[in-house]
Amino acid sequence: MCGVFGVTGLQDAAQLVYLGLYALQHRGQESAGIVSVTRDGRAHGHRGMGLVNEVFEPDTLRRLVGDVAIGHTRYSTTGSSVLANAQPGLVNYHGGPLALAHNGNLTNARELRADLVRQGSIFQSSSDSEVLVHLIARSDARRIEDQIQDALERVEGAYSLVLTVGRTLYGIVDARGFRPLVLGRLGAGWVLASETCALDIVGARMVRELEPGDWVKIEDGRLDELPRLPGKPSRRCIFELVYFSRPDSTVFGQSVDRVRRALGRALAREHPAPGADSVFSVPDSSNAMALGYADESGLKLEHGLIRNHYVGRTFINPGQATRVAKVRIKFNPVQDVIAGKSVVVVDDSVVRGTTSRELVQMLRQAGAREVHFRVASPPIAGPCHYGIDTPTRAELIASSHSTAEIRAHLGVDSLGYLSLPGLHGAVDAGDRYCDACFSGQYPTDLHDVVDLPDREPMPLIVG
Ligand code: AMP
Repeated sequence: MCGVFGVTGLQDAAQLVYLGLYALQHRGQESAGIVSVTRDGRAHGHRGMGLVNEVFEPDTLRRLVGDVAIGHTRYSTTGSSVLANAQPGLVNYHGGPLALAHNGNLTNARELRADLVRQGSIFQSSSDSEVLVHLIARSDARRIEDQIQDALERVEGAYSLVLTVGRTLYGIVDARGFRPLVLGRLGAGWVLASETCALDIVGARMVRELEPGDWVKIEDGRLDELPRLPGKPSRRCIFELVYFSRPDSTVFGQSVDRVRRALGRALAREHPAPGADSVFSVPDSSNAMALGYADESGLKLEHGLIRNHYVGRTFINPGQATRVAKVRIKFNPVQDVIAGKSVVVVDDSVVRGTTSRELVQMLRQAGAREVHFRVASPPIAGPCHYGIDTPTRAELIASSHSTAEIRAHLGVDSLGYLSLPGLHGAVDAGDRYCDACFSGQYPTDLHDVVDLPDREPMPLIVG
């Protein structure tokens, strides 16, 4: 998954992008990058592995001069976690310097890449986004917008793009609109960002969210709306609202916080826990859901688990510590809240089940009398092919195990997942969403998929 940000018409644009990326850090922690463009059209770039504050030193930022800049935070879904795949990509082609930052995942990049390689293209990365750059550069069209259009007509899947060609800034959302992108105004300048929380940090005012198929062109302070990409049914990613986006953002026209509280309330209606003493979240992603659950059920809201905010990248390699130990680094129970109590634990989602199993063991050790686990989304049935980093089908616990089996694996007294209708009921107009990870209904062809459904499912541990 990734975060993208762009500004134009503002002095020291790279400094603003740096702040924007800070607010989008949750969307990608592997690498970060910024490309800036000066008034005479020269581009400067810096990319590095790590968090935004690790990648950019004050000196590096000062070098990124110009009043146009774009940036990216990356969590790899296609292509490995190496510097070559960090974005924004910057190339010089016949139209001038081109920089591109992509959030999403192309579902036919493998095919297109093989084609391009056969025609002589030399790729510098293994990321799907570079395919777009090659397609733009190889277009026969004269106008830059037509070159971009040619490229977009060939790719399938999810893309929210922020790109610059020369000094012109473009923001583009694929025709199904999987990933968010918002447009903001700051003084005489313009801002594009994955989420509104990144507009807030630079003090920009939200103008509007880009709708599926929208693309905007901003040049010399003027904004042009270009013709929409050919219509497809809207498929906004429902998991953005469940887990991915920040609760202080407005995404797909909805307050993420409000949606998450509604999910918690729906969960309490579907899976009450009469007789429990209290409810608490697995912080931080489920905080609003636990609030909703407490509201609806009348149970006392507690802080039963404390999250260590300084986890970052630990220097423990996989040989020294398993994923299980990492959970202990991240969370610790509050003994006083838990000992002797019947508790309801609310989590936003269960992916592999590793976190929840380990958490439950911690709660038992802290003296919990009963643990009732509640999940504010349905069982995850399949991997995401549109940009969320979910593991292969075989590693998804719910793809091959029933709720009863998962309950035994987690070692909880009861387990309740929100139903798919319950999820749709908590967001508006459920039919405009992609819920493929829950329903298994993928809205596009999956040309590149190598995830074989017949692979051995993950073994469960009971007891
Ligand atoms: P797991 O141990 O794999 O079941 O992890 C479940 C936890 O991971 C939940 O608490 C979620 O908040 C979180 N989560 C859900 N989806 C993702 C994702 N794509 N990347 C990282 N964490 C996630």
